[in-house]
Amino acid sequence: MPHPALAEARAALRRDLASPLWEAALQDAVTQRAWWLSQWADGAPHVLGLVAQDVQEAVHELDPMWPRCTEPSCPERDGHALFVEPDLGPDPFWTCHRTGLPVAAVGHLHG
Ligand SMILES: [Zn+2]
Repeated sequence: MPHPALAEARAALRRDLASPLWEAALQDAVTQRAWWLSQWADGAPHVLGLVAQDVQEAVHELDPMWPRCTEPSCPERDGHALFVEPDLGPDPFWTCHRTGLPVAAVGHLHG
């Protein structure tokens, strides 16, 4: 059984990716973070944000705009990718770095 934090991260990123295309990349990220979590048991609150960043890095090899910025006040809306904030910490958000505004919690990109 995977750690609950990993199972949760996998489900959240599956929702955000919304495509079976990235299933292998997602599984790789979860497997690597399972090892990481076995080395640092207190790391569980950070797993969601880290898996999101790992998956984004893999997706960016083919689609550097994922996930596209949808922040209404952004001058470059649709023209850049959102990034995960914080880099390391609980409750990560997909964030527009042009405006500094959070767009959606990781796992809730599509509502
Ligand atoms: Zn933006």
